[in-house]
Amino acid sequence: MSLVLSDCGFTSEVIPVRHFFGTRQVPEGLDAPIQFGEITTGPPSFPFIASLKQIHSTQVMVFDSPVNAGVMTEGEGDALVTNQPQLLLVVRTADCVPVLLVDHKTGVIGAIHAGWRGAVGGIVPKTIQTCVEQFDSDVAHMHVAIGPSIGPCCYEVDAEVIEPLQSRYPAWLGVLQETTVGKGMLDLKKLIWHQILASGLPEQQVERIEHCAHCRDDLFFSYRRDGKVNGTMLSGIMLPAETVKSKE
Ligand SMILES: [Zn+2]
Repeated sequence: MSLVLSDCGFTSEVIPVRHFFGTRQVPEGLDAPIQFGEITTGPPSFPFIASLKQIHSTQVMVFDSPVNAGVMTEGEGDALVTNQPQLLLVVRTADCVPVLLVDHKTGVIGAIHAGWRGAVGGIVPKTIQTCVEQFDSDVAHMHVAIGPSIGPCCYEVDAEVIEPLQSRYPAWLGVLQETTVGKGMLDLKKLIWHQILASGLPEQQVERIEHCAHCRDDLFFSYRRDGKVNGTMLSGIMLPAETVKSKE
């Protein structure tokens, strides 16, 4: 059983970040002792952890100075961005999409929680823009990984979602497959993928993990399948103590 899923887009010498998309086999909340399976390589692996009260918003929290706490869980919002090493950014999901990003040139990372409200509202492009404005990041040097979430096979939505979606993004194919009048299957990951490309990232720097949280009961919690919050998956990213920045 996998404890974590990794993404090959990040695992290079040039981008020495540590990151993971958790499965249901990891602890359900930040109050639990944190054991991230194979990604812990010796204490103290995660000196500081930041996680927000997630509210399906487009609010981005920026950490641009050292955080002097073991675990920071104050504040509301759905995206975290930092240029600080040794600060683990964590988001929690159980159908929604976890998105992790890194700019390997400026040494900036981000973690995003995107459900349909946040995604349609544009939280992912807003987070990318925040990296550019706050830290002089360049989209040409960003890599993004879109993590496991409920897939288009299992995510039927109605007018509440379809109307704002179609008024904002009418031209993006494959995002919504209409099933009957006023209903359709939504591919949240594809919506986010389109938004990231529209933000200017090169396509080869955007990865997608296509597992469906609803189909893969063995790996993931799913709010929609379980009918309640049984648990959440943690996904996180951290800059190492010594950030080796690219010289290109
Ligand atoms: Zn499915």
